[in-house]
Amino acid sequence: MPSETDELTEFRCPGCGGPVGGFDPEDTCMGVRCLACDWAAVTTNTRHPHFQMARDETLYNVWVEWSGHERLRVVAAVGNALSIGVKAARELIDRGLPIASGVQALEVQSLHAKIKGIGLSIRVHPGFRWRLD
Ligand SMILES: [Zn+2]
Repeated sequence: MPSETDELTEFRCPGCGGPVGGFDPEDTCMGVRCLACDWAAVTTNTRHPHFQMARDETLYNVWVEWSGHERLRVVAAVGNALSIGVKAARELIDRGLPIASGVQALEVQSLHAKIKGIGLSIRVHPGFRWRLD
């Protein structure tokens, strides 16, 4: 497999002979793909943040950040978003407990998505070095 960009331009698709191109650096895979048909030779893009994140073995604690929001509404929304019910959510919110303890980066990301979905944000400890969006 050619690895230099110069060679890439000479490389034609083994399927249809069409021109080949690379993947977007943001893509989760890397390699070459045909611009004309479905052919592709790919490997996992291990530089992609998602994979780096999956390798992060740090265990995080996650809290819901809800200052400025109405407590009762927060309790209901969190109970719903996490499918833990209002009673358990009230317990966590009232006692200032983390909604998750000892979870890995990808789990933090998924919690972030759920909490963002109800208009709140999360606080993560230790410092979370991956981008949450
Ligand atoms: Zn092709």
